[in-house]
Amino acid sequence: MRLSQILFSQGFGTRRLCAGLIYNDEVKVGGELVDDPDAQFETDGLVFEVSGKTWPFFDKALILLNKPAGYECSQKPKHHPSVLSLLPGPLRERGVQPIGRLDEDTTGLLLLTDDGALIHKLTSPKHHVPKVYEATCKHPVTPEMVEKLKAGVELREPDDKPGYTEFTKAEGAEAFGTHGIRLTLIEGKYHQVKRMIAAIGNRCESLHRPSFGALQLPETLKSGEWTWVASPAEVSA
Ligand code: URA
Repeated sequence: MRLSQILFSQGFGTRRLCAGLIYNDEVKVGGELVDDPDAQFETDGLVFEVSGKTWPFFDKALILLNKPAGYECSQKPKHHPSVLSLLPGPLRERGVQPIGRLDEDTTGLLLLTDDGALIHKLTSPKHHVPKVYEATCKHPVTPEMVEKLKAGVELREPDDKPGYTEFTKAEGAEAFGTHGIRLTLIEGKYHQVKRMIAAIGNRCESLHRPSFGALQLPETLKSGEWTWVASPAEVSA
């Protein structure tokens, strides 16, 4: 593949920007500067450097985004921009989609990929991928509330299913501060954390996800920024 196409396919910007990076001596392959955007490279096992940072070539995209509030995970958002608008065009064009959903007002670690099998694997409760959520609640959190979340609660019906209830429990729960609850879930039911907190007689006022599987939100990744995940194995490590 041509070097400028390699950078473009990996989300480094528009075709013009990618060629610009190469002309500006920002790109090395095998430790050598390459200043020709048309130089051809085998992508299998390719490792290259852009502006001093090393990247492997990713056949399938796996992206970690620090999701800000005010973005919807849907591809056809109704009231707010899509999280996809935070990614460069080439990644959007690859058809990356969020792995599970976070509500518009939830912040934190969101994974996106163009690998359908991986989406299935990481969202299926059968695979027991733990996700940690930190909720700030309206009322102080009592030890009884925490115990109820661990024992299991009956979820109130979602708006579209009146009369329907379902039972769910947290794999782990602990209070932090006076109004915080840290919850570990392996499922991803609709508004699950907010509905669980409502079921214990409190109210979720803000929600953040600091981790997904073995991945933690990197401290250096600002809200709205994204980075590649080197391999799906990092999620289940
Ligand atoms: N549970 C919720 O209620 N909202 C989210 O965004 C994620 C989990």
